[in-house]
Amino acid sequence: MSNKRNRDEKNFRQAALDYHQSEPKGKVEVIPSKPHSSQRDLSLAYSPGVAIPCMEIFDHPEKVYDYTGKGNLVAVISNGTAVLGLGDIGPEASKPVMEGKGLLFKIFADINVFDIEINEKDPDKFIQTVKAISPTFGGINLEDIKAPEAFYIEQKLKEELDIPLMHDDQHGTAIISAAALINALEIANKKIDEIKMVVNGAGAAAIACTNLYMALGLKKENILMCDSKGVINHKRENLTAEKLDYVANTDKTTLEEALENADVFVGLSKGNVVTPEMLKKMAENPIVFALANPDPEIDYTLAMETRKDVLMATGRSDFPNQVNNVLGFPYIFRGALDVQAKGINEAMKLAAVYAIADLAKEPVPEAVILTYNLKNLNFGPDYFIPKPFDNRLITKVSMAVAKAAMESGIARKNIEDFEQYENQLLD
Ligand code: NAP
Ligand code: MG
Repeated sequence: MSNKRNRDEKNFRQAALDYHQSEPKGKVEVIPSKPHSSQRDLSLAYSPGVAIPCMEIFDHPEKVYDYTGKGNLVAVISNGTAVLGLGDIGPEASKPVMEGKGLLFKIFADINVFDIEINEKDPDKFIQTVKAISPTFGGINLEDIKAPEAFYIEQKLKEELDIPLMHDDQHGTAIISAAALINALEIANKKIDEIKMVVNGAGAAAIACTNLYMALGLKKENILMCDSKGVINHKRENLTAEKLDYVANTDKTTLEEALENADVFVGLSKGNVVTPEMLKKMAENPIVFALANPDPEIDYTLAMETRKDVLMATGRSDFPNQVNNVLGFPYIFRGALDVQAKGINEAMKLAAVYAIADLAKEPVPEAVILTYNLKNLNFGPDYFIPKPFDNRLITKVSMAVAKAAMESGIARKNIEDFEQYENQLLD
């Protein structure tokens, strides 16, 4: 058995290397989008024809959206300091991940991506670099940047730039898990303003998730947040600004104590830190989002064997209810780019949350069920988050986000006819 597993792992490893190494190496390439076969084509594409749109843009800067690819181009930017669960592996080693994100943007939302890996850990210098290259892009997806620097970097850039910008490890995760939370609470028959929640982890993802759950109605006094040193309570010293925000007025110090009678556990920390004994101490119909990757805070099968009434989500694709950011970022940026939004604000994030949550409650098309080799997918404990290959996501989420941008006053361009926009998205 273990021989077979070793062999499978070795094969997978080789397959991953082959996939990346085959020609053309990497995962994305640049393809010209205009005719380029005649002398005349070239004189339009480059000198002398190109000078004409240059001067149009010089005279009317907003025309950069009409005459260049800016409006459909997102930068996926990292400094490689918090890559997947691999840690600070540096800019070069992060490039496969950033190219991968580019691939996902393209296949799910037809957005072009330049992946940009910056050799800079100093937050202010990193910010300067991103600002300096921002004219190229219609939007910026910050990726795999270590906390707490990531909070400062995103905040500053949001203040200084007027294009859609989002640190996906924070907000992507927050949006998908918030949609999952709304639905799991409905199944458990619990109300968000009454539940007790334990958040394990106080990093980029955990802080952003908790902030968003509060925007949905979670009460601060009902949250216990833990980091690697245990419960963040009034006895703790030397806390970062983000952790200080979640200091709880309690004498509890361990995760085990925190979990007594908790309704919800959200893990964005490390694998296998929750035991069956801890799970047994939670309230009835406990909601367990064990999102550490690749190993959840508690193994899915172990949790199910421990309690029948648990409602569970993980970050993994091999169990039900995967919290996968790909349900969000392609479509959030799609909607934001299509109205040339000046940013990605709370209204747009909440619109994405509700669109994703609602989609899980609608009957699932046969094609989606077949893609996953399943017999059925019905809203309930085994299905409260939509599947990534559900082609309704692009219309539901992008349209909700675009609408929210318009209604909250940060769209530069209005969509007049949403039916036509829907058809355009489906093309
Ligand atoms: P991060 O910024 O490095 O934060 C990690 C946090 O976990 C830190 O606050 C750390 O505590 C805490 N931690 C470490 N060991 C712990 C323990 N034994 N008990 C309690 N807390 C502990 O990382 P991140 O980007 O937020 O990601 C955290 C985890 O979530 C990773 O495993 C990542 O793969 C996963 N994740 C999953 C999804 C998804 O499923 N879609 C999305 C995002 C992230 P200190 O502050 O004391 O160091
Ligand atoms: Mg990431």
